Amino acid sequence: MTPPLASTGASAARPYLWGQVARDLSAVVGPDNVNTEPAALAAQAADWSWMSQFLRYRDLPLPVADVVVWPESTEQVEGVVRIASEYQAPVVPRGGGSGTQGGTFALYGGIAVDLTRMDRIVEIDESSLTVTVQAGIDGSRLEKELNGLGLTLPHYPGSHFFGATIGGSLAARGSGVVSTKYGKAEQLALQVEAVVPPGRRISTLPVPNHAAGPDLLQTLIGSEGTLGIITEATMRLEPLPEGRRFLSFQFASVSAGLETARLIMTQRILPAAMRLYDEADSARLTSMLGLDTAGVLLILVLDGDEASMALEEERIHAIRAVNDGVDIGRRPAQTWWDGKYEPFAKHNAPAPPMVFGTTDTCARFAALPGLYEAKKRTIEDGFAEYGARYTAHFSHWFPWGGMIYDRFYVDEAPDDPDEALALHDRLWNAAVGTSLEHGGVINEHHGVGLKLGRFMRPQYGAAFDLMLALKNAWDPDGIMNPGKLGFGAPRSIR
Ligand SMILES: Cc1cc2nc3c(=O)[nH]c(=O)nc-3n(C[C@H](O)[C@H](O)[C@H](O)COP(=O)(O)OP(=O)(O)OC[C@H]3O[C@@H](n4cnc5c(N)ncnc54)[C@H](O)[C@@H]3O)c2cc1C
Repeated sequence: MTPPLASTGASAARPYLWGQVARDLSAVVGPDNVNTEPAALAAQAADWSWMSQFLRYRDLPLPVADVVVWPESTEQVEGVVRIASEYQAPVVPRGGGSGTQGGTFALYGGIAVDLTRMDRIVEIDESSLTVTVQAGIDGSRLEKELNGLGLTLPHYPGSHFFGATIGGSLAARGSGVVSTKYGKAEQLALQVEAVVPPGRRISTLPVPNHAAGPDLLQTLIGSEGTLGIITEATMRLEPLPEGRRFLSFQFASVSAGLETARLIMTQRILPAAMRLYDEADSARLTSMLGLDTAGVLLILVLDGDEASMALEEERIHAIRAVNDGVDIGRRPAQTWWDGKYEPFAKHNAPAPPMVFGTTDTCARFAALPGLYEAKKRTIEDGFAEYGARYTAHFSHWFPWGGMIYDRFYVDEAPDDPDEALALHDRLWNAAVGTSLEHGGVINEHHGVGLKLGRFMRPQYGAAFDLMLALKNAWDPDGIMNPGKLGFGAPRSIR
């Protein structure tokens, strides 16, 4: 039996052993698709988490893998996972690296598996309105190709132009700006293929529905590489909408805006996008987009044919009038739609030395107003000595509730990196603790990764033991993305 790589520590055998692994991997993916250089390893570990940005800003090392591979086919991924299983080496999958939760950090070293060379469109089925792709395809590239056929995969995350892949969006249960109408990535996914330890290809059922036992598809989705590597996905398509309409309203308070949104959703009107900004986030947005509005802002985007949009518009106006919403015309919503990626542009996005975090959460309508107020107090009052600021908008809606996309900001990180990381974690502890206490969830669409793993047990209670049992059954050596989702270290070093 080969010694488990995660336990070889700094022993003299380690470089030789990793050289051997790299040679074995070369035989599977070809020598051009294997690299052990420090710069390549650091690039694989980096993501858009604050931790990653902060460590690079301070020139501190990231937790990197020992070797990176770029497989080009599912067969090659099978070979890579088989080798990893033989050596009990950790496997850290990576799509576009646009994640924000430290999911690509290689805490225990191992093999980074970069999926971006698995970027083929396998099939477009125009009669069933589906597309099958290799998991490493860039979502924006796919969308461009589909638009050329009059089709769309309506998943437009803020990271659309940051390289986010379809596999990454499924792995982390992502959502896009029109998910209120069309569903999050997990609702758009129809079937996936994955490679699980010890190098086995599995596939979920290729049918529109079934009553053949528990749902394997939704077990793989959201597993963030801890159960296996998603290699292929079939996704639902829509025809490009005939048109869009834009509505913008101002409200006296967040609660009046929330009540309007609740009525829209519970009366089963389905806007493509609906965003309610609190005063602080509205100020941030309007200055970025050059708008002259102020206060609590609600913007809506409808899409479809003229007749159905006219009907929806009429019903929405009736609801906002009941809640004293002021119609401020189409322009703010249209400007937002045209500039929807602008908040993520380099000149607008927060960056170190600031300490920041997007602590998005989700709750049923009855809990949303209290949850918002509690989180705002937690950050602004609890971290007043640091001048902490809080902004929020409500951006994704469901038949029985909505999500809060909220952020904390502390303008200057403490000089000492350990203190800065500790402050970051304390802010997260407070924010997530408040979400859990007030009917919310750890996270709504960025995933868990390394950053939020410690909240899985408080979130799920006894059910987390069942998740651990499932993880141990799928991945007995604990080699798949160890340290993420709170599932702990590889078995060999536990
Ligand atoms: C500016 C910005 C805006 C963002 N806006 C949004 C948004 O609107 N909506 C949203 O949902 N997210 C958003 N995100 C977060 C991020 O883009 C998403 O989580 C995205 O889905 C990650 O895709 P990726 O391919 O970059 O995955 P990566 O960052 O490479 O990986 C994310 C996690 O998934 C795992 N993984 C990746 N590919 C696979 C695979 N094929 N099989 C198994 N595991 C895999 C990785 O190991 C890691 O744990 C944003 C991020 C940024 C930086």
